[in-house]
Amino acid sequence: MENRMQFSENRRIALVAHDNMKKDLIEWAAFNKVLLQKHFLYATGTTGKILSSAVGLGINCLRSGPLGGDQQIGAKIVEGDIDILIFFWDPLEPHPHDVDVKALLRIAVVYNVPTACNRTTADFIISSPLMDADDTKLFNEVLKN
Ligand code: PGA
Repeated sequence: MENRMQFSENRRIALVAHDNMKKDLIEWAAFNKVLLQKHFLYATGTTGKILSSAVGLGINCLRSGPLGGDQQIGAKIVEGDIDILIFFWDPLEPHPHDVDVKALLRIAVVYNVPTACNRTTADFIISSPLMDADDTKLFNEVLKN
């Protein structure tokens, strides 16, 4: 499977949270602010505005999720412009843009993008030594074994 992570310690991280999950993402982002601000951050519209005002992170805000923001992140993944997806989707509520949510999760798997859908997985990703690894070397080592 393809590995197209950027060759740098500055990952490009996309952050998305459905309304009932925004509190979780804010708490997680506030706890990890020092780590997160080393990276390039993207978010769907409302998530990005809240993260920027409540946590003080610099975020590239895209459209709101229901207005195409999820699709914009999916397109960035296809273009190789996103390294990590943190997507706290709501497992207990249907959404008008469920098809976009499914499409984003699908494309993240197709392009082998590390994806966290809950706080524990997000903790594992953000604290992973692979966050700072040289991806070419890392991937070649994995292929050898
Ligand atoms: P939002 O979109 O950040 O604009 O709320 C998230 C979503 O519902 O996908």
